[in-house]
Amino acid sequence: MRTVAVVGASLAGLSSVRALRSQGFDGRVVVIGDERHRPYDRPPLSKEFLAGKVTGEDITLEDDDEELDAEWLLGVRAERLDLADRSVVLADGTRVRADGVVLATGASARTLPGAEGLAGIHTLRTLDDALALRAEIEPGRRLVVIGAGFIGAEVASTAWALGLDVTVVEAMGTPLAGPLGTDMGRIVSTLHADHGVRLICGAGVRGFTGVGRVDGVALGDGRLLPADLVLVGVGAQPNVGWLQGSGLELDNGVRCDAGGLTGSPGVVAVGDCAAWYDRRLGRHHRVEHWTGALDRPKRAVATLLSGDSAGPDVAPAYFWSDQYGVRIQFAGDARSADTVTVEDGDPADRCFLAVYRRDQEPVGVLGMNQVRAFTRWRRTLGAPSVAAPS
Ligand code: FAD
Repeated sequence: MRTVAVVGASLAGLSSVRALRSQGFDGRVVVIGDERHRPYDRPPLSKEFLAGKVTGEDITLEDDDEELDAEWLLGVRAERLDLADRSVVLADGTRVRADGVVLATGASARTLPGAEGLAGIHTLRTLDDALALRAEIEPGRRLVVIGAGFIGAEVASTAWALGLDVTVVEAMGTPLAGPLGTDMGRIVSTLHADHGVRLICGAGVRGFTGVGRVDGVALGDGRLLPADLVLVGVGAQPNVGWLQGSGLELDNGVRCDAGGLTGSPGVVAVGDCAAWYDRRLGRHHRVEHWTGALDRPKRAVATLLSGDSAGPDVAPAYFWSDQYGVRIQFAGDARSADTVTVEDGDPADRCFLAVYRRDQEPVGVLGMNQVRAFTRWRRTLGAPSVAAPS
């Protein structure tokens, strides 16, 4: 293998380049990214960066003294993967021929119909999105956040702290029921009410009002929420459209085995665009979290360089979220649990640890302001037989 192309120049792409070099690959590495920026960190975009506490420079992902000897093709989109020719075809017509390909194209924010052409309606995925949203944040303005998932909740929290009047609208009866289950999702979402942020659940959005610029959000039940600006936080979709017709299996992400290998030898996928087979869950699972995009590339690059995806299972999915000064952490899989019990602390204090179990075996752990206890539990979660940590 003399050339590896990495498509996607963000956390998973950069982690892959680092893994290639640390695992001894000394050939040519070409990184292709459609954003014009060098790799930057996304979690601060809804937190410290949106609050104006850190700058673009503070959130770069590369170290100053890092020497990766990679060729960076930025601001250019990969349009097609030609497996027969072993090449990535770029929007400007260039073909990057490569023996190995790492797919790291991440995900894009979903939007809602009717948002096109109206100023003041935002999504948040990129640095440019965050700059546009930040420019509109002013104390006293009315912000409607559509979607009470993690990004919606973090933007609500940041905007509340900056003095905006915030309303959060959620289509489901309980926010975060998917990632945390109904009971824990309800508890975590009480943080909004604790801070005087209105949370409206079970309400679909019918459309937007305003001429040229949004001035309201119309709900399915007839209510109209006045708005000076809107954040649409209704999830993200994997950036795999460019791989249609390539022959790779696509189903909510690029399907991979438990070592990151796609159906084509020499092609691995990592980060938010990849749905790896998870042996613990017995199904493919796309993980959309920072730690997965940081860690899994090591495993995928080992697969790529050895041609063999055998190896230990990767750690269970983990994410954190910071809302209203509270750190929320979750590891594992809430969907496969049959019980969830609070083991430490008290939800009423917004400081507790809950364990999810299936057939009495822990399969997930949630912490609210319980960083140390959570870390102990998380370490044991991936072990074959999990005992309560002492
Ligand atoms: P991305 O970061 O999405 O990068 C993919 C890159 O590929 C992008 O630059 C994209 O433009 C580019 N690309 C796409 N298609 C092409 C193409 N065809 N050709 C070339 N380039 C292409 N996770 C947590 O665990 N905790 C948090 O608190 C947290 N907060 C977050 C806050 C925000 C606002 C956002 C947006 C995400 C947050 N995340 C958080 C999630 C975390 O940032 C992602 O899981 C991580 O960025 C995924 O990295 P990635 O490299 O796989 O994908």
